[in-house]
Amino acid sequence: MQATDSPQKTPPGSGPEAAGKLRASVDAEGRIVLPPEIVSRYGLRPGAEIFIDEAANGLRLGLPVNHLAKVYIEPTNRCNLECRTCMRNEWTELLGQMDRETFGHILESLRVFSPLPKVFLGGLGEPLFHPEIVEMVAGVNLNVAKKILRTSPPPFPPPSEGEGQGGGAKSTGSEVL
Ligand code: SF4
Repeated sequence: MQATDSPQKTPPGSGPEAAGKLRASVDAEGRIVLPPEIVSRYGLRPGAEIFIDEAANGLRLGLPVNHLAKVYIEPTNRCNLECRTCMRNEWTELLGQMDRETFGHILESLRVFSPLPKVFLGGLGEPLFHPEIVEMVAGVNLNVAKKILRTSPPPFPPPSEGEGQGGGAKSTGSEVL
């Protein structure tokens, strides 16, 4: 039988691409060339510095330190619940809420980022307690790519025998994407 050096072909519909993996290549000077989808999705520009970690079976690339991935905005620190474990019980902070103007400034300042960061609306209060939360969510929809609204857990079920208030509650809140 005659030997052949033709490369082994991957049957169509299989291989790393079929598994949703993207492929980078190494150029003649040993530089890793990332696929354009990745460059565009992460807003990588010429000169961007990417950190490389060596993992057990390969390399892990970290995003540039100036890549803003997510912004946390706390619309209010007020809450409709009074969990006994809430750290606000130990606070001396005043309760309040973000005003429309401040929120607008934040959204406006995010427009310069590409790709746009995710916006997380939540914090130590209940964001739905803010009287303008509907407008805030709509504003995020118009101005930035993605939002996450984190709300408080639902009111605790009545404690069963032997449990104190809130006993057995497992929910830690919900996220609306
Ligand atoms: S839901 Fe969160 S913020 Fe509200 S009282 Fe409970 S722990 Fe505190």
